[in-house]
Amino acid sequence: MFERTAIIGIGLIGGSFGLAAKRAGAVESVIGVARSADTREAALAMGAADEVTADPAEAVRGADLVYIAVPVGAIRSIFQQIRDSLEPGALVTDAGSTKREVMQAAVELLPDHVTFIGGHPMAGSEQSGVRAARADLFEGAAYYLTPGETTTQDELNRALALVRALGARPDVKVAEYHDRLMAATSHLPHLVAAALASTTHHLVSGQKELGNFLGAGFTDTTRLAEGLPEVWRDIFLSNPDNVAAALDKMIEQLEQFSAAFRELDSETFDRLLEEARRARRELLD
Ligand code: NAP
Repeated sequence: MFERTAIIGIGLIGGSFGLAAKRAGAVESVIGVARSADTREAALAMGAADEVTADPAEAVRGADLVYIAVPVGAIRSIFQQIRDSLEPGALVTDAGSTKREVMQAAVELLPDHVTFIGGHPMAGSEQSGVRAARADLFEGAAYYLTPGETTTQDELNRALALVRALGARPDVKVAEYHDRLMAATSHLPHLVAAALASTTHHLVSGQKELGNFLGAGFTDTTRLAEGLPEVWRDIFLSNPDNVAAALDKMIEQLEQFSAAFRELDSETFDRLLEEARRARRELLD
C-alpha cells in the first residue's frame, strides 16, 4: 500500500504502528525518528523500523506515508520541521490524543500538496517507550479519524484502509466532537486516577508495609496514574475547556457525597451509589 513510511516518534504507539503495518504488509520500508539513540537502537532491534534517524525532515523525504506519534505538544514543531521536505501526494497522519489543535496546525503549516488526516487509536496503556510496542496493539480497537475540510473521499478511503489493515475499527469524527468525547471518557478518568493516587498516598504514607493495605480497589482505579507525565500534560493543555468542564461535573458529584457525609444522609448515599452503579452498566453495555 505504501512504499516508504516515516514514523516520527517511534515509542509505544509509533513502534506498534511500525510492527503492525509491516506485519499486515501495508507498508514496505519504514524509517523511524526519535531524539535519543537508545530509542532508535531499540526500534531497529525490535524490527519496528528498517532505518532510523534523529532528523524528521530527512525521514519524510521520499515517504508516501508520514505517521507522527510524538506527544501532542510537539506535533506543531514537527510540522514546521517537515513542511519543506514532504513529498507531493504524501498522506500525513498523527496519533495524538486530542485533535482540534493538531487539525488547526495542519491547516496553518502543511503544504497543499499533501493530505493530512488526524488519527487517534483507542489503544495503548499506561506504559510508554518503544520497548512496550506490540504488533497486535491496535487489534479490535476503535481508531478515530478526523479528516480536514478539504479531504476528498478517495483520500479518506486510503486512511480507512490503512487503519483496517492494522486490525482496528475506524470511526470518522469531527475534531471538536472527538475532543469533547475524550474529555469525558479518557481525560477525566486519568485526572481522577492521578488525584486519587496522590490523595491515598498523602493519607497513609508513613505506615509500615503499605503494600499490604493496598487491594485491588486501589490498583484498579489508579492504574492510569502511571501514564507518562509529559504525554498527559500535553493532552490536558490541548483540551483545557472540555477537561475543565468535565472536572467541574466531577466536583459536583463529590460535593453531593460530601454533603451526604456531613448530614449522615443514608437516602442520598443510596441514590448516588445506585445511580453510579446503573451509569457504569449502561456505559459498558
Ligand atoms: P511514548 O511511548 O513516550 O513515545 C513517544 C516517542 O516520541 C518516543 O519514541 C520519543 O523518543 C519520541 N519523541 C518525543 N518527543 C519527540 C520530539 N519532539 N521529536 C521527535 N521524537 C520525539 O508515547 P506514546 O504513548 O507512544 O504517545 C505518542 C502519541 O500517541 C501521543 O501524542 C499520545 O497522545 C498518543 N496516544 C497515546 C496513547 C497511549 O495509551 N499511550 C494512546 C493513543 C494515543 P525520544 O524520547 O527518544 O525522542
